[in-house]
Amino acid sequence: MPLLIKNAHVYAPCPLGAVDILIAADRILAVGKNLTAVLPEMETIDATGLIATPGLFDLHMHVIGGGGVNGAATRVPAAELSELIAAGTTHVAGVLGTDVISRTLPDLLAKIHALNACGLNAWMYTSNYRYPPSTLTKTVMDDLICIPECLGVKIALGDLFGSFPTMQNILSLLADIRLAGTLAGKIGLLHVHLGDLLSTFDIFDEIERQGFPLKKHVLPTHCGRSPQIFERACAFARAGGMIDFTTGGGCACEPASVSVMRALDAGVPLAQITLSTDAHGAKPRFDENGRMTGYAVIDVAGNLQQVKALVGEHGLALQSALALVTENPARHLGLAGHGIICPNAAASVCLMSEDLDPKYVISRGQVLMRNGDIIVKGLYEK
Ligand SMILES: [Zn+2]
Repeated sequence: MPLLIKNAHVYAPCPLGAVDILIAADRILAVGKNLTAVLPEMETIDATGLIATPGLFDLHMHVIGGGGVNGAATRVPAAELSELIAAGTTHVAGVLGTDVISRTLPDLLAKIHALNACGLNAWMYTSNYRYPPSTLTKTVMDDLICIPECLGVKIALGDLFGSFPTMQNILSLLADIRLAGTLAGKIGLLHVHLGDLLSTFDIFDEIERQGFPLKKHVLPTHCGRSPQIFERACAFARAGGMIDFTTGGGCACEPASVSVMRALDAGVPLAQITLSTDAHGAKPRFDENGRMTGYAVIDVAGNLQQVKALVGEHGLALQSALALVTENPARHLGLAGHGIICPNAAASVCLMSEDLDPKYVISRGQVLMRNGDIIVKGLYEK
């Protein structure tokens, strides 16, 4: 159904002032003042007093559930459609994690298909923590070329649950990813879960010395895991690399909003930084004395919470905070026409209150939340 959003304060994420947004099918047709249109069954939303942002983009989420590192009882359930809508998340890239046995790539791809069928925009990385990589088809190259939703390859480096591939292993894998990406019309990314060991950045440096354009193809996450990893990640980003800070769970030594502000102070360009939730992984739960009492599910709303903190606690401009969870991830993943509000972009828009609480969520041109009520749910959700 066509949609005309009237008088929203648009952050595209750059600020456009109070303008209208016209949407038809799954595209934004026009953005401007005093738009009018006569289209069959068009819905008009009066967005006076609301902020319009691109739908939020979460580039690292365990959509089928992660966890499991302390036995099968610690496996985390899958993410539900309504949770994502409530958090304003319209774009997601799914990953596998530490459990490389019971969590499978066909299951992940099926969940990505399901999220797309329900109106979101979902992609995935093939493989998991380990080397040699696991694949859906014969090889990493086949996965990238034959599976449209597959944007890259996940791996854990410098992590005690990983498999410690050599520099040459990583270089060969990157060469496959780069060629397959070229053939498929994708960037071709190696999405790196950074463990605690600093040797990962030594491997990156050595690969660059071989002449490989590593920074175009490596997207490291958990960059705020420790002060030492943070320092190396900032140096990597100042030299042109992309870095991602985790907004939920145990893979960060401080809130991501603090890491972002410190990275900016350290000279990292905002355009090099993204936030992702790691949602539906497991995080430890502690009592008031700091003793671990169990596990909790990492929240899908972590990105939105950290955007609020960046703006409310640290005074970062709203357009800058939003870029970390909209425009930047879409650009880093090579998805033109996503993460922005402009003519011909994907019709994914959040209308939020001044306090940045989602009131309307629109994805693929479909209203999924109206007046704060989630109106589209997964088939088996209550
Ligand atoms: Zn993760």
